[in-house]
Amino acid sequence: MRLETLRAAVDTVVPADDWPGGWDGGVAELLEREGDAVLGWARPLLERAVEWLDAAGLDGGDRTAIMARLASEDPEAFAAVVRVTHEGYYAGFHGFEPPAWDMVGFRPLGSAPAGVEPEPVPAVDAGAVRDAYDFVIVGAGAGGGVTAAVLAEAGARVLLVERARRHTDAELRGDHLHGKRLAIYDPTAGPGRGHPRVLADRDGGEHVVDCATDPWAWGLNAMAIGGGTRVWQGMAWRFMPEDFEMATRYGVPEGSSLADWPIAYGDLAPYYDKVEWEIGVSGQSDGPLVARTPRTRGYPMPPLPANATREAFGAAADRLGWGWGPVPLAINSVPRAGRAACVRCPQCVGHASPVNAKNGTHNTVIPRALATGSCNLLAGAQVVAIEHARGRARAVRLVADTAAGPVERTVRCGRVVVSAGAVETPRLLLVSRVGGPAVGANLHNHSFTALCGRAREPLSSFDGPGHSVATLDFVHRDGEAWGGGVLFDAPSLLPLAAAHAAAVLGQPAWGAQHKHWMRTGLPYVVGAMGIGQEVPSAHARVTADARVTDAHGMPVARLAGDLHPATIEARDYMTERLTMWLAEVGVDGLVDLFGDRPVAAAGEHSAGTCRMGSDPATAACDRDGRVHGTQNVYVADASLLPTNGSVNPCATTMANAWRVAEALAA
Ligand SMILES: Cc1cc2nc3c(=O)[nH]c(=O)nc-3n(C[C@H](O)[C@H](O)[C@H](O)COP(=O)(O)OP(=O)(O)OC[C@H]3O[C@@H](n4cnc5c(N)ncnc54)[C@H](O)[C@@H]3O)c2cc1C
Ligand code: SF4
Repeated sequence: MRLETLRAAVDTVVPADDWPGGWDGGVAELLEREGDAVLGWARPLLERAVEWLDAAGLDGGDRTAIMARLASEDPEAFAAVVRVTHEGYYAGFHGFEPPAWDMVGFRPLGSAPAGVEPEPVPAVDAGAVRDAYDFVIVGAGAGGGVTAAVLAEAGARVLLVERARRHTDAELRGDHLHGKRLAIYDPTAGPGRGHPRVLADRDGGEHVVDCATDPWAWGLNAMAIGGGTRVWQGMAWRFMPEDFEMATRYGVPEGSSLADWPIAYGDLAPYYDKVEWEIGVSGQSDGPLVARTPRTRGYPMPPLPANATREAFGAAADRLGWGWGPVPLAINSVPRAGRAACVRCPQCVGHASPVNAKNGTHNTVIPRALATGSCNLLAGAQVVAIEHARGRARAVRLVADTAAGPVERTVRCGRVVVSAGAVETPRLLLVSRVGGPAVGANLHNHSFTALCGRAREPLSSFDGPGHSVATLDFVHRDGEAWGGGVLFDAPSLLPLAAAHAAAVLGQPAWGAQHKHWMRTGLPYVVGAMGIGQEVPSAHARVTADARVTDAHGMPVARLAGDLHPATIEARDYMTERLTMWLAEVGVDGLVDLFGDRPVAAAGEHSAGTCRMGSDPATAACDRDGRVHGTQNVYVADASLLPTNGSVNPCATTMANAWRVAEALAA
């Protein structure tokens, strides 16, 4: 491949002006740093483009006209040139920060002069793990982190096993190609190569999807100390009382497995309070966003200050007669717990905080558990089986990464708590042949909608955290589909996402005008989102695949099942309300960013695969998280949620894990 031709093509997609052209602005760096493992898909297409462009006389010709001809004669090769150019020019990767960030006003550290690197949480080597513990907890994420603290503080001897290594915060931010937000290539937050999943499609076809090459399809589940809470957006809602009784309120539509929870809002209220105060949530303690979730005290921190979006959306909501308020966030709005306040960096969701201001289990309850001295954290170790006999688990088998290679250990325990997330938890139980027929069933996520368009005023900026204003007026009121859902503003697009989205938004996708739009048009791009109930079905499920195994020989998760039509109804309802809100804000040219998701998938809000309930035929666990058919295997994570609420679920997952863990400790 003639590099001069490729360079000329790249510099036509992003021409040089006061700022570098595509090649010097990052594409040369991208091609040098990323091997075929990442860019293998592009190489044959780039070669094809170069061959065509050489024949067309790109050198010395009218480059823009020739590239336009390539676009019409070989759109696939042209699209590869544009995509690679955008990835090199607008994304950060492996510590490289492109000059284009400055050009568009993207400051990765917000107002902080430098990033802060917290002390790593203490962990033990595989060799230092004891032979036996009272509890082994599988997964140091949202549910597992909370459970570890409650049990260790009650004096139990706990081993907390996390398959991810101990990343630094710096490793988990600023990389837009390998982060969990855009999920383009081999995410740093796992699982790495050799850990595929099998996705079954509607027509019975199957696809083996490796996260390294197709992370979006694999799923947005994050693997890190802290799990999803290490890189989450921190939206920390309570479910409403009605969310716990969906079947009673709305009936059970045909083909669905919609169910009531075996507990009520009142059972979780004290644990929501613990999440808000002990993990740390900032929010407005009065007003419409808290009015329907009875509580004994407000939030421990005030909401983050307003921005132009909140003001515009709030004023529009006032004109429409809607109640609204600032989104509650597990983010320090003021210095707290020895950590700084948010510096409003532009890459909150999907990335670790530059100043450790975002609260998750990694910087709150997990350090607390370890500080007791009775909890050991083993990182970089995957539990591959639970050993059991006659309904009683006696040990877990794990494979730990060590300097000398993988080491297998068997650790005896009094009880096992599986908190590996809603895909990996049922996978482990199924591989281990633990539990009844409902293990893995009812895989669901949320009904998402997202709209984006052009505002009349420059409302959008790269100031984080992103979501700042919400309404709950269309949740469990009158006439909304399946409980409706929360509506809120969307964060600004990362520069790479904006470059990709230009065409969808009716803007030039390449050339001088594209670059001009990237500099001047982004502040006018405003979006909003809705999250409502995904109505679960028993057939949408996780199974252990019969043929495909991972790098440790463990059968991988197989995901199958369609979306229930009721979920689409909920989505359409939210889209309608969101359209009204954006129109009132003055945003037009709306584009639907998500569209329909055709099949069950592992998303960041995956839930329900080991739901709680009294009937072992339809629920995997009892109301205390014990797996039906076992005496001492428990689940404490998002898998337990029978339904996923009409708001983001993680505060509920943590509150419920807290409840399960306290019962276990007692
Ligand atoms: C980018 C992103 C943004 C999000 N934003 C929000 C938000 O704003 N609000 C909200 O409510 N929710 C949000 N979420 C979702 C939230 O983080 C999840 O719902 C929550 O973390 C799920 O908790 P969990 O305990 O079930 O699993 P996780 O937190 O995913 O933890 C599971 C852990 O188990 C580990 N594990 C898996 N298998 C094994 C094994 N065999 N052995 C050892 N360890 C194992 C995994 O590596 C992982 O660390 C977001 C998630 C992502 C990824
Ligand atoms: S809390 Fe979020 S927005 Fe604030 S500095 Fe940290 S990562 Fe950035």
